[in-house]
Amino acid sequence: MERIQPASGALADAYIAGCRVGELRLQRCGHCGIHQFYPRIMCGSCLSDDLEWAAASGRGEILSFTVVRRPISKAYEAPYVVALIKLEEGPTLMSHVVDCASEAVAVGLTVRVKFARWSESITLPVFTLDSQRGSSS
Ligand SMILES: [Zn+2]
Repeated sequence: MERIQPASGALADAYIAGCRVGELRLQRCGHCGIHQFYPRIMCGSCLSDDLEWAAASGRGEILSFTVVRRPISKAYEAPYVVALIKLEEGPTLMSHVVDCASEAVAVGLTVRVKFARWSESITLPVFTLDSQRGSSS
C-alpha cells in the first residue's frame, strides 16, 4: 500500500524539486514582500502575480500538534507526530516531527527542517526538535 502523494502541477512541481535538493521553497511576493505557503498563482496578501521562489531558513516553531496512534493505512507507521509549524519567514505548514519520542514534542519548541523520502520519486520536509533551544546562539 502506498502513501498519499502530494499534488502535482507546475507550482507543486517547483516546490517538490526544491525538496529534492534539500531546499524548503516558499513563494516571496515582489510587490508586498511577504512569504507564502502553499504555492499559489498570486499573492494571498496583495493579489500581485509577481512571485518568486525563495529558500526558507528551515527554522520554525511548533504551533500545534497531535500524535497519531491509529494510522489511516498500513503505509503509515504509528505513532507519529503531525504538527503545524510556523516558519521563521511567516507561513505555517503541516508536517511531521521526527527523530524524537512523541512525549518530547510541545507547543512553542523550535524545530529545523530535514528532508525525508516519501516515495520513490518524492522527498518531503519533516522537522526535528532544535537541539540548540535554550542556548544563547
Ligand atoms: Zn503581495
